[in-house]
Amino acid sequence: MSAEWQIRNEICDIGRRLYAKGFAAGNDGNISYRLSDEAVLCTPTQICKGFMKPDDLCTVDLKGNQLTGKRPRTSEVLMHLEVYRSDPAVKAVVHCHPPHATAFGVARIDIPSCVLPEVEVFLGIVPRADYETPGGKHFAETIRPFIGKANTVVLSNHGTVSWGPSVERAYWHTEILDAYCRMLMLARQIGPIQRLPVPKVEELLDLRERFGVGQDPRRKEGGPLCVNTAFGDGDGTCNACSADGPQEVQESYEELVTRITAEVLEALRRRG
Ligand SMILES: [Zn+2]
Repeated sequence: MSAEWQIRNEICDIGRRLYAKGFAAGNDGNISYRLSDEAVLCTPTQICKGFMKPDDLCTVDLKGNQLTGKRPRTSEVLMHLEVYRSDPAVKAVVHCHPPHATAFGVARIDIPSCVLPEVEVFLGIVPRADYETPGGKHFAETIRPFIGKANTVVLSNHGTVSWGPSVERAYWHTEILDAYCRMLMLARQIGPIQRLPVPKVEELLDLRERFGVGQDPRRKEGGPLCVNTAFGDGDGTCNACSADGPQEVQESYEELVTRITAEVLEALRRRG
């Protein structure tokens, strides 16, 4: 089997996993792979990702013109091409609508960092792109600010897109994100979300480099390690806050009792 047909089979396998996980309802989602500087393999429009056959796939050039295939290419391939044109290291892109991660996009709540080791090691900061009508040039451009700085992006009111050096890795990033978003939702229901201290996050970023995932953009560019720390309102000590600016001072229990007692006494005094 040629290398291209192996990739076609791999895209069909990942399509089955996307569909089985509930990440792509109906005909949702699309997958692509950069075959060369001139050709990208991609899924066609209007096909269920759970039931694709290798010869259903098509190829396009880096501008989105269809080169081969019996079915028309997905309109959302323009977003994939935006990634390929901007980052030569990327070989594969996966776009879908995983429910937990998409819920963050629908609520327009940004994904917090410094909570779960796998996310720090394999994803880093997951930004959220502005909403735009799916399929067109403006839609594709919404992710441009994050290429080279992230490998997974939440699309407001739409879904997610992730990329990597292989189809499996691009898919894997989405799976890690959706599991993380589910854990965040569950944790928020049973208690406040606690953050990892900055030195422990630094250890995870060391691990990331040892695993060959590459240097985290937070280290390259010197930005804050911990972002969106307000989500799930932690324990008030916020270990991450040294890297994230000053935190609001929280009232202690004693201060709260003293203040309410004074307010009650003042109200009684005014009445009496
Ligand atoms: Zn979509």
